[in-house]
Amino acid sequence: MEEKEIESIAVKAMKKFPYKIKNPIILFMKKKEFSKYLNGMNLVKHLNKTPCFVAEMKGGDVIYYCEDIINGLVKGLRKETRIKFIEGITLHELFHVYNHMPVNSRSGALFSEELVHEELDEKFPEQAKVLKRFKKK
Ligand SMILES: [Zn+2]
Repeated sequence: MEEKEIESIAVKAMKKFPYKIKNPIILFMKKKEFSKYLNGMNLVKHLNKTPCFVAEMKGGDVIYYCEDIINGLVKGLRKETRIKFIEGITLHELFHVYNHMPVNSRSGALFSEELVHEELDEKFPEQAKVLKRFKKK
């Protein structure tokens, strides 16, 4: 999938989000830059299993997607499943924005992930089901 297509699915997914938040901006990063950015975050790094992440910037939140990583993950999946996947990863990040939990420790980051998984599962079970196939170990 190309950036344009990913972006258009992400934009539509944002409209489905049930809570009022300021929608993040969508940006793309090449894998090398994306990888460097992840080093600075409080997460266990799973580069090839991390298709996007959200970052708080001065003007608002930004979701950075990596086209290479997304394509590596969705390879071989049916079109509808790919769309659900992009929707799922986008909604996942929106729940992070909505929860607005500070993650300044490893346990805080893990708790924040668990919470988002539960929320996505409750509101968007189909998308959550697709994402579960890619659950990080
Ligand atoms: Zn997350």
